[in-house]
Amino acid sequence: MSRIGVFGGTFNPPHKAHLRLAETAAEAAGLDRVLVIPAFVPPHKAVQQLLSVEDRMELCRLTFCGEKFEVSDLEIRREGKSYTVETLESLRMLYPGDELFLIIGSDMLLSFDKWYRYEDILRMASLCVMTRETKVSSGKLKSFCEDTLGLSKERFMILDCEAVELSSTEIRKDLESEESVSEKVTAAAGEYIEEKGLFSPYYENLKALLKERLDEHRYIHSLGVAESARKLAKRFGGDAKKAYLAGLLHDITKNETNERQLQLFEENGIILSQTEKNNPKLWHAMTAPLFIKNSLGITDDELLLAVRYHTTGRSGMSLLEKIVYIADYISAERDYPDVDVMRTLSEESLEKAALYSLKYTLRKLSQSELVIHNDSLNFYNELIINKSERN
Ligand code: FE
Ligand code: FE
Repeated sequence: MSRIGVFGGTFNPPHKAHLRLAETAAEAAGLDRVLVIPAFVPPHKAVQQLLSVEDRMELCRLTFCGEKFEVSDLEIRREGKSYTVETLESLRMLYPGDELFLIIGSDMLLSFDKWYRYEDILRMASLCVMTRETKVSSGKLKSFCEDTLGLSKERFMILDCEAVELSSTEIRKDLESEESVSEKVTAAAGEYIEEKGLFSPYYENLKALLKERLDEHRYIHSLGVAESARKLAKRFGGDAKKAYLAGLLHDITKNETNERQLQLFEENGIILSQTEKNNPKLWHAMTAPLFIKNSLGITDDELLLAVRYHTTGRSGMSLLEKIVYIADYISAERDYPDVDVMRTLSEESLEKAALYSLKYTLRKLSQSELVIHNDSLNFYNELIINKSERN
């Protein structure tokens, strides 16, 4: 029989005080493990700027990474309002012989008798009350447990947690004003927040602009490519923040009309080759860097080139260019016959994945009797030559 702590919350975002609280509870209550359970929608409060469930799950994994901790998507999968009593009912089924300990802050205890079906909660779990501030004496907390909730001594613990006073609200405010939160969140969570620009007004504005310029499908695709590019950069030692941004912006002119794209070429003195004239699908990769530079003021050449060659590829691509090129094929919402093969290959090597994608694309283009851009052929040849030299 093991002792399992249950620690729920919105975790928008999770921070060091959350971690301290959970660690102290585990230690003081002798817990074998602690389940960290992000809420789907918090029943008690309406949270502004709620991060996506994926971001909150990942941030929890990056925060609670000790071996005792396990981040559970139980409430997120259940959707709807996240009631603790329903979570405990599921956990009772999952861990029939084990003891459950609900970890809550002392600030929440004094309204516990207002919680939905709180008596059922108390039948399924003991309470681990963590005193976070000294405003309420532990005597008062104790008598609340005994007198108001009718708990016997073995069913609750009041544990002292010298947690730094921190709140997710405060962290969101810091991030909104571009202040560092490195003292307040774990290093890994801080990195993730930074790479994805979470809660940053600059990124919020960029996303709003994307939403305005792209159709729903293309918007979701852009978020997916950004995330895939970020992960590839982390795997292959690239600049994760830049990869995320490049992914976010790579299709920003995709929904422009052909007339508008031609106009952009003209305004910028760009003359199309015969192949390019023949293939309007390539145009957005050529106009996007113009838009990003001229309208967004982003002048980073590496990023602009990664956007520029995301469709055709080319020989001599930089690491970032390859990352965005591959990310475009493997983003989460992609669904074509060989997408799983591409995803597996991309975990191994960007070049292997690129060669596979080129074979797929070149085959498709020739079957449909569409033109093939020289840049793609050069990329293909380069990969083949490098491969045979390696062998
Ligand atoms: Fe594209
Ligand atoms: Fe794309």
